[in-house]
Amino acid sequence: MRRSVPVLSALLVGLLATSCSGGGPAGTGGPAATGAAARPAGDLRSPAAGAAKDPAAVHANELGAVPVLMYHQLSEHPASVYDRTPADFRAELERLAREGYVPITAAEFTSGRIDIPAGAHPVVLTFDDSTNSQVKLGSDGKPDPNTSLGILLDVASRHPGFRATATFFVNGDPFSATGSKAALTWLAAHGFEVGNHTLDHANLRGLGEAEVEHEIADDLKGIKQILPNANVVSLALPFGSMPKPGSLAVQGASGGVSYHHRGVYLVGANPSVSPFAASFDPTAIPRIRSEAATGEEAEFGSTSWLDKMAQSPANRYTSDGDPDTVAFPKSEQSRLNPAFAKQARPY
Ligand SMILES: [Zn+2]
Repeated sequence: MRRSVPVLSALLVGLLATSCSGGGPAGTGGPAATGAAARPAGDLRSPAAGAAKDPAAVHANELGAVPVLMYHQLSEHPASVYDRTPADFRAELERLAREGYVPITAAEFTSGRIDIPAGAHPVVLTFDDSTNSQVKLGSDGKPDPNTSLGILLDVASRHPGFRATATFFVNGDPFSATGSKAALTWLAAHGFEVGNHTLDHANLRGLGEAEVEHEIADDLKGIKQILPNANVVSLALPFGSMPKPGSLAVQGASGGVSYHHRGVYLVGANPSVSPFAASFDPTAIPRIRSEAATGEEAEFGSTSWLDKMAQSPANRYTSDGDPDTVAFPKSEQSRLNPAFAKQARPY
């Protein structure tokens, strides 16, 4: 199935796209369902689902906004607004934990599998470009504590409930210092998602259709050679550049490898709407650049957005603790995607 890209989303990408330095693998021949509307109700179920709490007591709003944060390199000496220092990265994770956010993967987000405690808020942590500053394993096979992965694991260990999970959007030959096989195998074995970021970090907007499909399918091929059972359902567009037609970001094939993504992620610049909202477009999901409160385009960065979301908590996604239902104040009813009417729990 081919999908068209909303004009407004494409414009936003064009306005806000900036450089990012990595490149990565592509989607897999995953399930045909691409959007929340196509998902059967059963997908929401979780064996961990416990007794539901009163959604009003926790101010649940599962139609609220979700921050999808975008990270690039860690560096003690950032060379661009895309880099963060290890200390700043750690501080941001500590803030998220302190403010009640619980990480989920991009795949969980787009499929609506948001199984977090009552009162908690989902956050999607995404890492682009598969650099060694993100993932490096030591000679003992354990993550280097100074990498993004090592810091995330450490913060999670200090904050019970702050899940150590994330999505890594990888290019060809990811995490070269460790070796792609060892690195991807470790990530998959520990519940992290591996997503596609194209083979060569290509600007897909400038390529012909066959080249677009090659860039995505061959990245997927590399992932599947290491993780044959991986279901690669998430794509992050390099530079946020949408191919023409935009449907090629969702589905295509090259060299006998086909891909089908549930979620296509942009570069910039605001929180996403809930996957249960009628306005949710899984083919153009906005991401927020991790950034301090000052500097170039800081108003579109994570510190500013997390400040704004803390200041208007009613607009933020807050879970009722029951992954089988979609709870929200009655005043939000009109924003619900009708496909979730059976799970709706207005109060
Ligand atoms: Zn990139």
